[in-house]
Amino acid sequence: MATYIVLLGPPGVGKGTQARILAETSKLAHISSGDLFRENIKNQTELGKQVKAILDKGELVPDDLTISMIRDRISKPDCELGAILDGFPRTPTQAEALDDMLAEFSDSEVNAVPYITAAESVLVERASGRWTCKAQGHIYHEKFNPPKQAGICDIDGSEVYQREDDKVETVTKRIRVYFEQTMPLVEHYEVAGKLIKIDGTQPVEQVTKELLAALKI
Ligand code: ADP
Ligand code: AMP
Repeated sequence: MATYIVLLGPPGVGKGTQARILAETSKLAHISSGDLFRENIKNQTELGKQVKAILDKGELVPDDLTISMIRDRISKPDCELGAILDGFPRTPTQAEALDDMLAEFSDSEVNAVPYITAAESVLVERASGRWTCKAQGHIYHEKFNPPKQAGICDIDGSEVYQREDDKVETVTKRIRVYFEQTMPLVEHYEVAGKLIKIDGTQPVEQVTKELLAALKI
């Protein structure tokens, strides 16, 4: 039986950072919807052209485009044992589509939903200080986790850049969008008995420790 974990939480709380660590320590694939959109934008695909302005504004990509992108990704062989989903689902319609996909592809369901939280001031400080690697999206922070050599990714040597949507105004807008459109999922997964609350204000290592203890992966 495959294991599917949905990381829920506002922008900047540390989902991508933790998803990468969890995927490395388990045999699960890491699926980041934001990374997939940015990859499409970088490669100037049809999808990339359709979504660039939406990402830059900090709004959500329409459900149909997002769902079909994730459907393609989750049907790949490396997701057979399961996946850590980071940034998807973000709306009730996406959550429903995810249930349908998992039932169809592997006769399985979402197993657990860690819900990582932090105060808005922490989210803004984290996201607006985030640096992202151009080649593979490795995540840094100018203060909390700077690359060893300024401007260069430790892992693949590519340049790190500030995401267009990590400017303070856009981060604030993304947090608002999250509260308006994604918050209903917290209750949805709580009612389903799948929500695991995690304090995201703790250091990266402590958050990882709590996630690993709760998920047993
Ligand atoms: P999300 O995927 O939820 O938007 P990220 O994992 O990209 O969040 O983290 C946002 C920023 O905060 C990054 O710059 C990252 O280096 C930093 N960060 C992540 N977790 C922590 C933490 N526990 N303490 C301090 N900084 C963190
Ligand atoms: P993230 O990398 O998770 O911060 O996402 C960056 C941006 O990608 C978001 O602000 C949205 O514009 C878009 N995006 C990522 N995931 C989704 C999703 N599940 N639904 C709609 N838009 C998304």
